[in-house]
Amino acid sequence: MSRRALMAGNWKMHMNVVEGCRLAADVARTCEGVTDRDVLLAPPYTILSEVSHVLANTSIILSSQNVCWEEKGAFTGEISPTMLQDAGASAAIVGHSERRQIFGESDELINTRVKGALSFGILVILCIGETLDEREKGRTFSVLEEQVRKGLDGVTAAQIEHVVLAYEPVWAIGTGKTASKEQAQEAHAFLRELIEKMYEKNIADRIRILYGGSVKAANVDELMAQPDIDGALVGGAALDAESFGRIINFK
Ligand code: PEP
Repeated sequence: MSRRALMAGNWKMHMNVVEGCRLAADVARTCEGVTDRDVLLAPPYTILSEVSHVLANTSIILSSQNVCWEEKGAFTGEISPTMLQDAGASAAIVGHSERRQIFGESDELINTRVKGALSFGILVILCIGETLDEREKGRTFSVLEEQVRKGLDGVTAAQIEHVVLAYEPVWAIGTGKTASKEQAQEAHAFLRELIEKMYEKNIADRIRILYGGSVKAANVDELMAQPDIDGALVGGAALDAESFGRIINFK
């Protein structure tokens, strides 16, 4: 089963308007003529609208880094799905490990975000991943299973078509340490089997599972050669158009 690759850049809390528009334009240039894979950029909320204008005539998907479940109301500090759409975004990262670890977002809260975003037709990139301690204690698969089952609780078979999973071992994010291609493939295969158990084979075959954790030009080719790795969620290396361009154009 061949799935269309998705190469996603998470800009985290970086880039002002000028810098972000320049980076988006440079990334768009490196994608010219690239038709066999999808590219997604997730800038901070404050520059989504400006970046959406830069990407207007491209096929690059614009994403936020989080999303609220309600359309409007007393949710200080949150951004609703329709606000994102108004700013030109059609996707949202949910459950990033920085949200889980620094801001205490639970699987239950993340599930509420996932379901809310899906109900407004937002493409959800649901991040899951174990910490180093959990890996060393042999708990990787049980942690992943819990995060996926809770994160997707109540998500229907029709809605799952709008979900992308991102396996991001916490110990590999921003640390320069990448999971080996074997470790990543093993986790991705586990996740695909889990989706088959939760939904059906057809859905498991189609769902895209991205790898994230210090992806760079030097390791993207071997990661993307793994049968269950369908793309990458890239942090640091997505802040530079040349390195992200090389990642997008993996061989
Ligand atoms: C991320 O932010 O999701 C990420 C994987 O970061 P980095 O590529 O910098 O490890």
